Amino acid sequence: MCQSNSHGHPHHHHHHHRHHHDHPHPARPDREQAHDHPDRDRSPRLDRRQALARLKAAGLVAAAAAGSPWGSVVRAVADDGKAAAASGAAARLFDIKPVAPGVFGAIAKRTAMLNCNAAIVVNRDHVLVVDTHSKPSAARALIRQIRAEVTQLPVRYVVDSHLHNDHAMGNGAYPEAFGASVEVISSVKTREWLERLGVPRLQETLNSLPRQIAELRARREASHDESARAELATHIEGLEAYLKEMTPARVTLPTMTFERRLVIHRGGREIHLLFLGRAHTAGDIVAYIPSERVVATGDLLHGILPYIGDGFPDEWPATLRALEALDFDRVIPGHGSIQEGKSVLSQFRGYVEEVTEKVARGIERGQPADELVKAITADTLSSLKADDMRRRVNRELTAVFSLQERTPGMLPESVATNVREVFTYFKERKGRREMPQK
Ligand SMILES: [Zn+2]
Repeated sequence: MCQSNSHGHPHHHHHHHRHHHDHPHPARPDREQAHDHPDRDRSPRLDRRQALARLKAAGLVAAAAAGSPWGSVVRAVADDGKAAAASGAAARLFDIKPVAPGVFGAIAKRTAMLNCNAAIVVNRDHVLVVDTHSKPSAARALIRQIRAEVTQLPVRYVVDSHLHNDHAMGNGAYPEAFGASVEVISSVKTREWLERLGVPRLQETLNSLPRQIAELRARREASHDESARAELATHIEGLEAYLKEMTPARVTLPTMTFERRLVIHRGGREIHLLFLGRAHTAGDIVAYIPSERVVATGDLLHGILPYIGDGFPDEWPATLRALEALDFDRVIPGHGSIQEGKSVLSQFRGYVEEVTEKVARGIERGQPADELVKAITADTLSSLKADDMRRRVNRELTAVFSLQERTPGMLPESVATNVREVFTYFKERKGRREMPQK
């Protein structure tokens, strides 16, 4: 997901920031967000470029577009295990919450580089884990927590919900910890995309970090607020640790793929891995445990606003309807908190549907992207008003993004980014090559 801080996107991977140039940053802080962030950094507002850099570093922004002065895509990952270790604290990167008998959601804590949530399914003699975060050390931190808090059983299956850096860059930790017989499972498309895009996107993130770190250092030196300085120091340490760990850029590819459906019968219950259609990427899969009425969804469905830069916005709602048709009570999403029932699913689908329809109608009328961004906003979208979705998303943003990644205008900026992503989809991507070129 990506959201950024600043301007941003709340979505994880955000890419396509080129568009940020095109519209003014909101001058006025978003009220809800301001209330939700009593601890906000008091330092001067970041300018757009700094904000983008943060986002990128946060892994939220994944790809910037061609033409952007700061380069293209970035998908990163996050970690502050090292910072935590340095300060003497145990590196607990996740809050592990029971969701159903033998099923746990590992909810990612805020870090310098964004980590996704994981789902943990304990079977009779092994464990299955969905998603591997932004780097191997984050996955190792989860493995330690599983051993300490859940079970001593070995992890035998790892599932990549999709290719993004905050979900799949820790794959290598599992064969290292449990041996080469660990299977890393994904859709066929996710493996193809990861094979082609994984290293270049990671490299782009790594390339962007030294400048970002230098800017954060300059801000720290200029600040006279001790708590802001300490927060910046922790964030810088997190980014430096990530840069060091991930250099040279490499990825661990899935060892097993499937097209539409794979059912694991080992252990005491069935685990259904399902490709339900294109959505956030061409290869999103969910892990559904029918006996426990739980589904883990990656970024096909999560608690904040979507990243659509690699997505298929006119197909995403139908894929969410296929998900909704499954029998489940709880969702372990790729980001944000555990969801009860299907109400967040309908909010999320309503938002994707409304933005997509409004952009499509605007394109039919010949409106340029800048005009659509002015017309389709957090204040004008009825889907964000329904069921207080905007307030809920702002609350989730606070939980997902660290202080350095958040800004008061994050939600409206995310909407603007989504409008541009959908515009670009219809103008440049729909019906053409499925896989992004970068
Ligand atoms: Zn994603």
